[in-house]
Amino acid sequence: MSTYKLVCPHCHSRMRIRTSEGTHIFLRVAYLQCTNEACGWSVRAEFEMTHEMSPSGMANPTVKLPIANVAQRRAAMLSPTDHPDLLDQLEMERAI
Ligand SMILES: [Zn+2]
Repeated sequence: MSTYKLVCPHCHSRMRIRTSEGTHIFLRVAYLQCTNEACGWSVRAEFEMTHEMSPSGMANPTVKLPIANVAQRRAAMLSPTDHPDLLDQLEMERAI
């Protein structure tokens, strides 16, 4: 499990997802709020699937994304995490 947290750029407290909505198969819009009541910053964010890193074993022919280039693959290897907290929350909201 990663220790990565989505943090507020103002006060460095944890951000939580208030709501999120799918606007496109590759795009999800989320509204985040700082958990520090003294701060209270809220923001709109977008999470977009942009490049294919590895092909699907159940490929849908309508799903077409550019293949990640060498620099993007290298960046993925260097990244410490793929933001599991945020993705976990998006998954929970979708299940409701
Ligand atoms: Zn804050």
